[in-house]
Amino acid sequence: MIAWSKDDERLREGIGLWFGKFGEDFARYERESAFAREPWLAVMESGLLRLPFDEKWGGLGRSLLTTMYVLEDLGRGCPNSALNFAVTTHMVSTGIALQRFGSTALKDTYLPRISAGTAIGAHAVTEPGSGSDALGMRTTATADGDCYRLSGSKAFVGNGPVADLVVVYARTEPAAGPLGLTAFLVERDTPGLAFGEPSEKTGLQSSSPCSLFLDGCRVPKTHILGRVGAGSLVLDHVVTWETLCCFIVGTGEMRRRLDRCVEYAGERGDFGRPIGGFQAVAHRIVDMKIGLETSRKWLYDTAEKFAAGRKVTADLATAKLVAGRAALDSALGAVQVFGGDGGAAGPGLDRELRGAVAGTIHSGTTGTQYDRIAATLGLGRAA
Ligand SMILES: Cc1cc2nc3c(=O)[nH]c(=O)nc-3n(C[C@H](O)[C@H](O)[C@H](O)COP(=O)(O)OP(=O)(O)OC[C@H]3O[C@@H](n4cnc5c(N)ncnc54)[C@H](O)[C@@H]3O)c2cc1C
Repeated sequence: MIAWSKDDERLREGIGLWFGKFGEDFARYERESAFAREPWLAVMESGLLRLPFDEKWGGLGRSLLTTMYVLEDLGRGCPNSALNFAVTTHMVSTGIALQRFGSTALKDTYLPRISAGTAIGAHAVTEPGSGSDALGMRTTATADGDCYRLSGSKAFVGNGPVADLVVVYARTEPAAGPLGLTAFLVERDTPGLAFGEPSEKTGLQSSSPCSLFLDGCRVPKTHILGRVGAGSLVLDHVVTWETLCCFIVGTGEMRRRLDRCVEYAGERGDFGRPIGGFQAVAHRIVDMKIGLETSRKWLYDTAEKFAAGRKVTADLATAKLVAGRAALDSALGAVQVFGGDGGAAGPGLDRELRGAVAGTIHSGTTGTQYDRIAATLGLGRAA
């Protein structure tokens, strides 16, 4: 069990004072599939985005574990799950990739803006023809003097409609397999780069991923994160952070649903007594509690191992499976506890259910997590 310091607790409580502002008008943003611009300004002001970045670049210099501890409470306190998703995507996909793999000059230029939130970050990995098989991507990057020319198209770029900076993964070496990918930091207004319309999809409406098109887009060699050919290492690091941060937010959301269900089950009466008195309802709520606590344990244990420099392939896949499934069960359980109101727009539980479905797909689908664990057991494909 992690012993959180007084400083961690103060930080979490301090950010917690802002949750009302983050969640303001969230149902409208979801209905209109519009990015929550005003709440984002509050997020910036709160300092939340600064958590994992070095003080040298305007950050708070906190560890992965402390960052997760605060993000968990964001999930509990802020009902705008699309905004929460935008926060982790921004912080991790661009910020963590840049902090860990960018040159000092690149960090000096961009990290203070990412840390402050004045430049919104995104990353483009998935393509129309390759999602789970990220290494099968076809977007190319060809050396051209002091630049690379990027060509191809990407799909489902979270934060895409509002992103100022995108980490684009492209193939620099056609035949080199995992060693053929390179990560580039690209500014939105770079000629040859264009974003598509926000896609209509299930869950997290106002985070609206969109397509991205690259047509000979010239990116300076100085904008490479890590080395040429080391893109899969960058991606591996980012996906580890993404899974841990995004799904710890999910456990906070599970806690909020649990609290709502306990309250509702105590108030709603059927057959002359509160529905929480029926074993079927009480046990459903207990299952939500067990799913929440199991997810927390897996996520924090995996984060501790990762922070200690240990290999976490199977742990991460297990944590994602456990937390993704628990979130889905918790969202479906809450809809059931609320009965007819569970599917009504007012309480918003239908929206949470759709968000939980999306959680079984982004950051690696359920199927691919099983595949990874099987590989560590010597089954299926090689690890
Ligand atoms: C809300 C949301 C936000 C997203 N944000 C981003 C983003 O910011 N940037 C980005 O680049 N992408 C993003 N994505 C895309 C996401 O990463 C992909 O959708 C995901 O990787 C799956 O790829 P796919 O959709 O092509 O499905 P496929 O890879 O085609 O999978 C289809 C089915 O086949 C199964 N499958 C495929 N291969 C295997 C295997 N080896 N073993 C077992 N089962 C397998 C899958 O489990 C799945 O059930 C986002 C997606 C969502 C839903």
